[in-house]
Amino acid sequence: MKQDDIKSDGSSKLSKFNDIFRSLKAHFFIAIFLTGLACCLTMHVLIINDYEERAVKVKISEMQTQFKILSNRVTKFDYLQNTDESVINAQIDYLSNLNNGRLIVINDDLKVIKDTYKISVGKTIVSNELVNCLRAGSRGTYAKFDKKNGYISMIVPIIESQLSEEGDVAVNSEKNEVVRGAILASVSTKPIHESMILLSRKAAVYEALIILIILGIAAALSRKLIKPFDKITADINEVKAGYTEDSIEIPKLTEAKHIVVAFNALLSRMKVLDDSRQEFVSNVSHELRTPITSMKVLADSLLSMGEGAPPELYRDFMEDIGKEVDREDKIIKDLLTLVRMDKKSPEIEFKHVDIEELIETVLKRIKPIAMQRDIELTFISKRSVTAEIDELKISQVITNLVENAVKYNNDGGSVKVVLDADHQYFTVKIIDNGVGIPEEDVDHVFERFYRVDKSRSREIGGTGLGLAIAKSAVLMHRGTIDVESKLGVGTTFTVKIPLIVAADK
Ligand code: ADP
Repeated sequence: MKQDDIKSDGSSKLSKFNDIFRSLKAHFFIAIFLTGLACCLTMHVLIINDYEERAVKVKISEMQTQFKILSNRVTKFDYLQNTDESVINAQIDYLSNLNNGRLIVINDDLKVIKDTYKISVGKTIVSNELVNCLRAGSRGTYAKFDKKNGYISMIVPIIESQLSEEGDVAVNSEKNEVVRGAILASVSTKPIHESMILLSRKAAVYEALIILIILGIAAALSRKLIKPFDKITADINEVKAGYTEDSIEIPKLTEAKHIVVAFNALLSRMKVLDDSRQEFVSNVSHELRTPITSMKVLADSLLSMGEGAPPELYRDFMEDIGKEVDREDKIIKDLLTLVRMDKKSPEIEFKHVDIEELIETVLKRIKPIAMQRDIELTFISKRSVTAEIDELKISQVITNLVENAVKYNNDGGSVKVVLDADHQYFTVKIIDNGVGIPEEDVDHVFERFYRVDKSRSREIGGTGLGLAIAKSAVLMHRGTIDVESKLGVGTTFTVKIPLIVAADK
């Protein structure tokens, strides 16, 4: 294998790994697994700590009972005076062994009279806890758990109850008790610790099992959560490959549903665009073919007449062919104008233009045609306006609209052009009292190749693109173009354009 192959193989493996690691499935899996693991470990720590606390509590309570009984026996057998008392010595040794600890008995002079380790006998022990215990009497039992060193220390006072004056034993009466000494115990918590280790080990086995189950659940759950997205990808790929154009089935998962709804909306928009593109292409072909068909018919008729045809007929036919060529030329020119305007960044040249002057120039050009049909063309300027526009394009808009107002007018009719402005926009109204547009057609007149009366439009040299071009040009200026019309009464087109180019243009 070549060095380059090894490199590209390595990098593709790396990117595959990156893909897997960055996938939603991996994220879900890790999140679910970590949550499960964290719960498991927290539970482990809490259970073990709780066990230790409870075990120590039980141990302390046990020790308290044992040493209280011992303390009663110590006074009963007067052990503090007679340390040879075998019954008590045996019990002390027994308790020391049982608790795996050290027991010390001291008298009220704080002198050690018995030590199960036999190292402190005769010595004096002084500590705050001991002094407090002796002072407090039966309430002075002291117990402390030293977690770090693993033992429980306890001090239990040895109390002798005094007889009351009546001769009864003063039970529960603190005033009648005398503290004779104390039992000091230091007991190892090693057995508790060992049980904890055992418990911890057992728990670890169960935890390993639980973690395995969590792994399984995390894998299954992440796969289930991702499934709708995998299906969406597969469905989108089907659409992309062109196997289907149908909308994608909407899944139940809310997030997936949002994606699919958005995609379906995009799909239907694309379908609309595709349909309108196809319609446009078929319209273009049809429109381009019409003059060619006419020319072919004219040429064929000339040919069929042979050489005997009179020269005037030739001239007539050739003139007709010339007209068809002009029409073809106009359609192509209009189409090119539209295509240029449709471009993502159309060429547009804004400059300050005197709108009054622009309209006057346009009207001057159209006036002779209007005069031919005795149509009165008037211009009313309510105020003089200067605006930042593309002069050529707006001039074409006004030309198209005024030409239409003349074209679709009756002989002897009238066309009025009114210019007005406010502080933001200027408006040009083109009002005619011509044939008007039927109500059902009004909304369609800006569509490409849309003509209310096809034959009439063609007859008078229309391409069906004039209003589409006008609308595109107006939109390029962020303006609006509206139409109001009544059949047989007349039509008014209103163009509204901002005086100043918007900042983001
Ligand atoms: P055309 O080249 O056919 O004039 P346009 O796009 O300029 O194409 O206009 C589209 C159609 O709208 C025309 O065919 C005509 O039927 C209708 N129309 C446009 N302007 C007027 C008007 N001022 N009065 C009546 N009908 C109009």
